[in-house]
Amino acid sequence: MTRRHAAPMPDSIRKFMGNVAAHPARSVVCPWCRAGVQQPCVIPSSGKTGRIHQQRMDAWAQLTACCTTCQVTPGVPCHLDGRVLKDGAVHAARHAEAEVTAA
Ligand SMILES: [Zn+2]
Ligand SMILES: [Zn+2]
Repeated sequence: MTRRHAAPMPDSIRKFMGNVAAHPARSVVCPWCRAGVQQPCVIPSSGKTGRIHQQRMDAWAQLTACCTTCQVTPGVPCHLDGRVLKDGAVHAARHAEAEVTAA
């Protein structure tokens, strides 16, 4: 068995990562570190500001975009086989959709 990392992110998302300060995901509260609207994410262990948390990206995508993978409308959690994805995660396609919406 070969060990593999998670699927690589689409280039469009990676591009956003390089410009965190302006990321539209800042328009939602971070469910992970509780950073407020337009506030940077904070690393709880050090109190320093860091990259936008994945959970915030997921929350933002869920709030603003439809998911083309599981066919849900904005605000509705992603699901798979009738179950909501763990920890508020969303399908990769939804991140792409959210970017299109934000652009
Ligand atoms: Zn955060
Ligand atoms: Zn989905």
